[in-house]
Amino acid sequence: MLNIQRNISLAKYTTLKVGGAARFFCEAKSEKEILEAVKFAEEKNLPVFVLGGGSNILVNDQGFSGLVIKILNTKHEIRNTIVECGAGASLSKIVQESIKAGLTGLEWAAGIPGTVGGAVRGNAGAFGGCMAEVVHSVKVIEIPNFSKARLFPSAKQVGGIPQSQALKSQLPITNYQLRECEFAYRESVFKQNPNLIILSVTLKLKKGDRKKSEELLKEILEERKKSQSIYPSPGSFFKNPIVKDEKLIKEFEIDTGQKIKDKKIPAGYFIDRAGLKGKKIGSAMVGEEHANFIVNTGNATAENVVMLAAIVKTRVRNKFGIQLKEEVQMVGFEKKVL
Ligand SMILES: Cc1cc2nc3c(=O)[nH]c(=O)nc-3n(C[C@H](O)[C@H](O)[C@H](O)COP(=O)(O)OP(=O)(O)OC[C@H]3O[C@@H](n4cnc5c(N)ncnc54)[C@H](O)[C@@H]3O)c2cc1C
Repeated sequence: MLNIQRNISLAKYTTLKVGGAARFFCEAKSEKEILEAVKFAEEKNLPVFVLGGGSNILVNDQGFSGLVIKILNTKHEIRNTIVECGAGASLSKIVQESIKAGLTGLEWAAGIPGTVGGAVRGNAGAFGGCMAEVVHSVKVIEIPNFSKARLFPSAKQVGGIPQSQALKSQLPITNYQLRECEFAYRESVFKQNPNLIILSVTLKLKKGDRKKSEELLKEILEERKKSQSIYPSPGSFFKNPIVKDEKLIKEFEIDTGQKIKDKKIPAGYFIDRAGLKGKKIGSAMVGEEHANFIVNTGNATAENVVMLAAIVKTRVRNKFGIQLKEEVQMVGFEKKVL
């Protein structure tokens, strides 16, 4: 049975280990429990925050004054080249299980923390791969705008629910096919519509060679180790910006010996060049190994992190004319101007 708790600290549910408490909190282990949780929020007119692995969020020190639903429907099933996953399944586990089943296509995701639902919502990517390349379809529910505190437009208003599928009940369950997911760099229709909760995901992989996949997996994990911080973090803090300035592109290519991809330059390159590696506010620090990580070196507060992020944005804008945008999702900041 769904156990709804009060006043639960969220810091331990995030990889950054920062943030205040949720007024209400529950762990939903099945689709039925997710629906039950939504119903509870509806009855109490509470805003909802959907929590996956907490590996890409920054929770306000004041916490979240609504219901946090931790998605824990973790089951998965592999049939031929199809992998059906509960949204709460660990992405790393699905990588391993798919390789074990002789499938290829998901090796790039090795070592990315968090859930399959979180990865789909943010179109997580690494080493040239991303979720958009492996998703077949995504099952979601749209939660209604029952709380005034929830300022999001409904999916319908912004065109999220496919036209072909009329809403039949208050909590419509809809299957989004790949083309309806509107994936782009760290973007999806699910990110544009926070009222959509991903319940499960169907991935389509290819038949592969288990040995080769295992070797690739090992290489990727080794590569990840090189930039791994010893401190807690929410991964990359900013999205890699699209750069049009030819001079900057040339400088980047000369400095790093790399060609730019999709017109994007890693945010960490600019942060590093702005001399910000190791910059600290309280216990929040710009990563020394990876400049696009903001890490928690001890007892960082969300305020420390927000202030440091603001300094990073200002310095990078002043020096390069580049406006960095957060990849990390802010939780509990809705009523404040950052
Ligand atoms: C050390 C480290 C390395 C990382 N490396 C990478 C990397 O290489 N590439 C990359 O892309 N990311 C990376 N990340 C970031 C992060 O792991 C990914 O973005 C991950 O996919 C987030 O999943 P999550 O389950 O933790 O989501 P959470 O952090 O829990 O949530 C993120 C957002 O997704 C929403 N969400 C979560 N689950 C659902 C759901 N079921 N339905 C609807 N919305 C949902 C939440 O509401 C929130 O807005 C890294 C993070 C860390 C800490």
